[in-house]
Amino acid sequence: PYDVLVVGGGPAGASAAIYAARKGIRTGIVAERFGGQIMDTLGIENFISVKYTEGPKLAASLEEHVKHYNVDVMNLQRAKSIEKKDFIEVELENGAVLKGKTVILSTGARWRNIGVPGEAEFKNKGVAYCPHCDGPLFEGKDVAVIGGGNSGIEAAIDLAGIVKHVTVLEFASELKADSVLQDRLYSLPNVTVLKNAQTKEITGTDKVNGITYIDRATGEEHHVELQGVFVQIGLVPNTDWLSDTIERNKMGEIVIDKHGATSIPGVFAAGDCTDAAYKQIIISMGSGATAALGAFDYLIRN
Ligand code: FAD
Repeated sequence: PYDVLVVGGGPAGASAAIYAARKGIRTGIVAERFGGQIMDTLGIENFISVKYTEGPKLAASLEEHVKHYNVDVMNLQRAKSIEKKDFIEVELENGAVLKGKTVILSTGARWRNIGVPGEAEFKNKGVAYCPHCDGPLFEGKDVAVIGGGNSGIEAAIDLAGIVKHVTVLEFASELKADSVLQDRLYSLPNVTVLKNAQTKEITGTDKVNGITYIDRATGEEHHVELQGVFVQIGLVPNTDWLSDTIERNKMGEIVIDKHGATSIPGVFAAGDCTDAAYKQIIISMGSGATAALGAFDYLIRN
């Protein structure tokens, strides 16, 4: 068995594998797609100490750093179940079973897509998902936020301080965000809230130039000219494959303690698949390191 088996090859998993391997213990990492979400990211300006990089470039450096150590890298393999027997067993979709004395889950998350025409086409060309990451790219411009839950309204408040104007589109007849956030939002001069607004299309040529929505109250179609659209209808953790084996919160995020430990002894978790409050590259890397150190501590005690 591996001393540490990491499932997931994004920033959290890569960091966990490096921290584990540096303890001189047998380490493996299995990933459906090494690099994770950063493979879909263009500019990164908040990876501290690096003013600007691009996702695929950062993923290549992660892989190089991992391969500098004695780590078994198993790319393009998807885990389908986990079970604690003598060791912790992770079954892959190809039927193989990997064993670990400890396992670190770092399977990340994905932004829920709105699924309208233009979304996929203009991804990174005006369609964005992360206000902390991409907000500054829209300085002085007009943007929309799709989604009136907490994350949408937080994004709108955040963006209103950077961009010229924010239009919030909420499908339902009321915003779902906490009232303190709504009060803050309505106090801002450069925000318009559209309720009962069903997004129909994100329009553009080579990049986004507007959004078309249907007013569900009247059935009328409207078009707003703008340069950016932030889709904020939820971040979904990649944890379905765990079913009921491990404690998850109501969002499906794996519940961890300050050592990165989960509800199964010997199983740790890190990054966007956990109940960590914030989801960012630098935060996932930190939690990957925590989980590896937590796993090492567990190994020397058991
Ligand atoms: P992920 O990056 O999601 O990696 C998960 C890994 O697990 C992948 O290797 C995946 O293939 C693998 N996996 C999933 N399921 C399985 C399975 N069943 N079996 C095996 N492997 C599996 N953050 C910033 O800090 N700055 C930015 O500028 C920024 N921009 C972003 C732009 C976009 C478009 C997106 C989508 C995200 C952005 N983020 C940014 C967020 C950042 O990418 C994430 O917080 C970070 O990648 C999380 O790392 P992770 O390792 O926890 O998960």
